[in-house]
Amino acid sequence: MGPPGAGKGTQAQIVADRFGIPAISTGDIFRANVAKNTELGIEAKRYMDAGEYVPDSVTNLMVRNRIDEEDAVKGFLLDGYPRTLAQVDELDGMIAYTGHRLDAVVVLTAEPAELVRRLADRAHKEGRADDTEDVILRRQELYLEQTAPLIDVYRKRGLVCEVDGLGEVEEVTARIIEGLGKVEES
Ligand code: AMP
Repeated sequence: MGPPGAGKGTQAQIVADRFGIPAISTGDIFRANVAKNTELGIEAKRYMDAGEYVPDSVTNLMVRNRIDEEDAVKGFLLDGYPRTLAQVDELDGMIAYTGHRLDAVVVLTAEPAELVRRLADRAHKEGRADDTEDVILRRQELYLEQTAPLIDVYRKRGLVCEVDGLGEVEEVTARIIEGLGKVEES
């Protein structure tokens, strides 16, 4: 977890590779569907372009199907999910059903000014439709309003590993790996 621009996608890929599990990014799955113009993509795009969350019903079903795939049997790392309280409940139900267990929740932190700088940089490099100034602000707002409160839910379960997302990619990865070790011990 972490605000848009904190480096979730980059770190999720690296950490998942280390553990030999897939990184499942809801944002990436939505973007792939938008690119292919699927029904899901057409539905999701309306929300994504405005910086809003795609409705829980659509997102939950997509994650449920994805974690049912063969490569996720031994475990997986979710990137960008859950983002709402309803998704937290849904995820609990899904993993109870598949027999998985939630091991840890990594929270990447970053200063708001740094986030805006990073997203502006990404807009320049990747040209993501939702990296425009207005939409960036809306996404940050929505994160604070709907997603940040979930950290406490997981903190109460003793699962949270909070990591400073500022610094070189390798430095942040090292902090995450170290933090995961601590969650496991506790
Ligand atoms: P991301 O790549 O994680 O920043 O996600 C890009 C966009 O996809 C978000 O701004 C949302 O519109 C949508 N999205 C990704 N994950 C979720 C989720 N868990 N719930 C609702 N919408 C999501």
